[in-house]
Order: sequence, then C-alpha cells, then structure tokens
Amino acid sequence: MKKIFTILCLFLLANFSFAQTDQTIQSIINKVSIDTLMNNLRELTGDKPVILNNVSTKLISRNRYSAGNSYTPIYLMQKFSQLGLVSFQQNFMTDGQNVYAIQNGATKSNQYVIICAHYDNMPSGGLAPGADDNGSGTAAVIEAARILSKYKFDYTIIYALWDLEEYGLYGSNYYASEASFRGDNIVAVINLDMIAWDSNNDYKAEVHARNVSSSLELGLLVHDVNSKYLIGLNLDTSNPGSTASDHASFWRYNYSAVLLIESMSDFNQYYHKTTDDLTKVNKPFYEKMAKLALGVTATSAVPIQNTSVTQTIPYEFQLYQNYPNPFNPETTIGYNVQTASKVSLKVYDVLGREVATLVNEYKQAGSYVTTLRATSLPGGVYFYRMHADGYSETKKMTLVK
Ligand SMILES: [Zn+2]
Repeated sequence: MKKIFTILCLFLLANFSFAQTDQTIQSIINKVSIDTLMNNLRELTGDKPVILNNVSTKLISRNRYSAGNSYTPIYLMQKFSQLGLVSFQQNFMTDGQNVYAIQNGATKSNQYVIICAHYDNMPSGGLAPGADDNGSGTAAVIEAARILSKYKFDYTIIYALWDLEEYGLYGSNYYASEASFRGDNIVAVINLDMIAWDSNNDYKAEVHARNVSSSLELGLLVHDVNSKYLIGLNLDTSNPGSTASDHASFWRYNYSAVLLIESMSDFNQYYHKTTDDLTKVNKPFYEKMAKLALGVTATSAVPIQNTSVTQTIPYEFQLYQNYPNPFNPETTIGYNVQTASKVSLKVYDVLGREVATLVNEYKQAGSYVTTLRATSLPGGVYFYRMHADGYSETKKMTLVK
C-alpha cells in the first residue's frame, strides 16, 4: 500500500497529471475524425492512389520485400511536411527506413513524448493491405500529427513510424538504442499496433505495460483518460505485457512505454493475410482507440492552455531546435521557408565567429532539413542563425565531446 502511495505521489509531481478534465485535451479528443483516419488508411492500404514524386502510385504492400516498403516513407514524409512538421528519415541495416517528425516543446524541448506505430506489414510477396496490422496504428499517428500540431505543449512530441517490426522490431530497436546512447530523455512512448478490429462490438482493448521505469503509471494514465473523457473503451491491462511490438524496444532501454492494442481474446482472423483489408475495420472502435491514443499523448506532453495555434498557411519562416541536442558529432536542423527567398543558415561559436555555413542559397517555399557534422569542432555551446527575407532567428545548441 505504501509503495503504491509513494509511486503515485512521485507520479503526480512528474509528468503525467491526474488533473480534472482538461478542456484542451477534450477539444483535442473531439477533433479525431474517423473520416480522416479512413482516408489515411485507404492510402496506406493501396485502396486509394497516392502521388509520390509526381507519380500516381498504389501502396499495395508495405512489406520489406515489396517496392511499396520504400515508397511508404516518401508518403509519410509528405504527410508530415504538409502539416508543417519537419520530418526525418532514419536509415538502418541495409533496407530499413524509419520516419519521424518532431514538434518542439515550448518549455521542455529536451524531453520527449513519442507516439508511434510500425508501418511495415505482412504477408511478403504480392498483395498486403495490412489494414489492421498496422495501417490502423500508422494512420492514427498521422491523425495525431494533424491535430496535435495545431497546439503547443511543454514537452516535445515525436511522431514515429517504424520499419521492419515484422522481422524483429528492428526499426524501433535501432531508434531506442541510439536514443539511449545519446541519453535522450524520453518520458513516454505510446505504441499503437492493431487498433481497428472488434468483431463483436464489445469495445474491448488492451494496455500492455511492465514494471520498467514509469510504464505502469503510464498504463494507469491510459485508463484515466478513457474514463475521464468518456471514450467508452472497455480496457484491460496486461502486466507484464507482451514484448511482441515496438514498445518493447523502449523497455529494453529502460524507457516508459505502453502498447495499445485490440483485445487478444477476439483475435483478428485475417492477421498477416492478404484479406486484412479496409472492409474488416470496425470504425466506431477504431475512432475510440485513436481518441484514446491522442488523449494520452496530449496529456503526457502537457498542453499549454488556450494556445491553440491556427495554421492557415502551410509554411511560415521558422527555425527549429536542432535534434538531437546535445549532440556528437551530427545533428539535424529543420526550417521552413514561407515565400521563395535567399536563405542563409550559419553556425557561430560563443565568441561570434562563424564556424560553418549550412545553407546559403535561393529556396522555394517549403519545409527543409540540413545536417551539421561537427567532427572537427571542439565541444561546447554554439549558435545557429537563419536569415531569409527579413526573418532572422538564432538558436543555441551544445556539442558534447
Ligand atoms: Zn503489428
């Protein structure tokens, strides 16, 4: 009893708050739309063509051994950049490609909340719509980015889509090991895998947690969000939870993580078959699962009250905080260009001496990323400054050697 009490107290002081109903969280949950989710899912399953590099394509499979597996990251990057988010492709092994987008936190930008799903699927060879496994989770992460990117949060949110989960959680494991090596402060990982199957409309779903860092508390938060915001799912917690999806990669490196998944006692009979398609989706159930995932992510990232950002233009001039930070030896800097203009992005040391020019050219309106490789620079604090069409912004970063 005492132990539980102590944990809960620490927990209240820490990131997840069991506060009363929060209007911002409620407004976020209300914005989740089954139509947007289904549209994303139609594109991910090859039901609706997507335009990639000016060519109309159907993603008929996202399996490792299909061409669609390498087209999907292009599609995902495009989705994120249309939302004005800076997105990254992370290559690993010989054929793995994770995609993630970063939304910087206002006050705790070096602490991360990750909402994630694997986009690769089964079976290999030919048709593989993978609607439930795991188009459903992938589409929900894109929906989270659409809605949450219009709000400001204390913590940085990372929208991550993993590759090669089906072959051994390779993508998430690569990301988690790199994050751990850098010492990233990841406060919560919400993994979505198979969230659209409910054959008997009982709204049963599972939360998988373990006694790793604050994972069990994060699991309690999931229940809390479900009841507080009247989402209406019938949740069970599995502890110790399954290690059969990407959240387990984060447990491995001692990060707090949970899995949200449909009920395993009502197992999807089309799992890993060519028939795991759109027609099998239980839309009301799927919408509730997405609402739950967004509610938990938003609560963990702590919204700043009354600061809903209304984005009417796709881009504004903007310089993002570099990622990772601190770094060694490589870091990525994202920036947006509102109107075509000459853009310069330079790096200075603490004495104001220019040490690197990352960008110095005419750019079309759009979202860009550039990488600084600081192998020859000494460790310490640096500044980077962007100039474009009257816009100027400087940010600080730390090279650790
Ligand atoms: Zn899966």
